[in-house]
Amino acid sequence: MTDTEKDLFLNAGIDTLAVRAGQTRSAEGEHSEPIYTTSSYVFDSAEAAAARFSGDDPGNVYSRYTNPTVRMFEERIAALEGGEMAVATSSGMAAILSTCMALLQAGDHVVCSRSVFGTTTALFNRYMLKFGVTTTFVNPVDLEEWRSAIGANTRMLFLETPSNPLCDVVDLRALAAISRASNCLLVVDNCFCTPALQKPLQLGADIVVHSATKYLDGQGRCVGGVVVGPEKLLQDVLVFLRTAGPSMSPFNAWVFLKGLETLRLRMDAHCANSMAIANWLQQQPQIEKVFYAGLPQHPGHQVAAQQQRGFGAVMSFQVKGGKAEAFRFINATRLLSLTANLGDSKSTIVHPGTTTHGRLSVEEKAQAGITDNLIRVAVGLEDVADIQADLARGIAAL
Ligand SMILES: *Cc1c(COP(=O)(O)O)cnc(C)c1O
Repeated sequence: MTDTEKDLFLNAGIDTLAVRAGQTRSAEGEHSEPIYTTSSYVFDSAEAAAARFSGDDPGNVYSRYTNPTVRMFEERIAALEGGEMAVATSSGMAAILSTCMALLQAGDHVVCSRSVFGTTTALFNRYMLKFGVTTTFVNPVDLEEWRSAIGANTRMLFLETPSNPLCDVVDLRALAAISRASNCLLVVDNCFCTPALQKPLQLGADIVVHSATKYLDGQGRCVGGVVVGPEKLLQDVLVFLRTAGPSMSPFNAWVFLKGLETLRLRMDAHCANSMAIANWLQQQPQIEKVFYAGLPQHPGHQVAAQQQRGFGAVMSFQVKGGKAEAFRFINATRLLSLTANLGDSKSTIVHPGTTTHGRLSVEEKAQAGITDNLIRVAVGLEDVADIQADLARGIAAL
């Protein structure tokens, strides 16, 4: 971005940023963002090459660490999250790994929400531990648990809000105050809300990570991730990327750029559909309980209403009965896709207890509230009436 463009976007709204932030044009004057499929770059002279390699000239050297299409995606998501800098990665997990590798070292301690993406738990338990970083898992909504888990060597607090699949909502401002008082870095996986619904950096978080695979693309086409935050931290993430190489491909960056252009419109439509479905589900006598922060009786409703622009599109509910009833419900649906994925224009349905959370022990499931009769739905962009009719097929099969 040139300085004039920075000025233009200083007070721009989210849709303007989503459509235009970060775009650079080549001498060809192309209107739409091109895909730069090149591994390396040529230099005008030996002196120019030396300047690029030394960092005196910030231009491109090699696409493992910079590529113009990837750069456009990074600048656009940084603008949307309100962060100084972003680094794109090959997946959401690579974004979390890169953050940890750049900012943690042996002997450090992490406090992590118990309700995070299962693979994130495995990353901390299996690999971070192997390199001397220990993790304590806490109930995310209990701020006292966070506070008492923090020790002298705690460097990072990590969470998702709202959580999957029960929509637990963590008060980010309150947790950021706890984090700051202990000199920790607060890292928020903002995958479920996206910057269209929640801006953790404005609420006091230090770093935002994303699985771009979900709502940033929004159409289930590519795997990717991104880390956003202040330049002094993100430079270290970029050095890790440059050294270890979990980089985003320019093609995927282009898909995500195009996905971002409709982000706010899609998220608002996802939220509207979800609210209608949650309200309807709640009125069905065969449904025991609905977990969605948009419902006033959900324990996270107040905080979600304060820190989110909308309540998101992932919800879960308990059917009357147990696993057999939940399976009958799922098997009777015909429109919804039976898949563990979410963040897609297509609605999805899954039984968390035997899929996404299937590796938890009986006690861990009980602690996390993953009951046998629980079903998760990620509400897509189909007509509400058709989603509802499909869920009614499930209810009829109970
Ligand atoms: C999917 C997901 C991830 C992992 O992202 P990938 O792109 O699949 O590597 C991380 N966090 C959350 C909340 C997710 O839903």
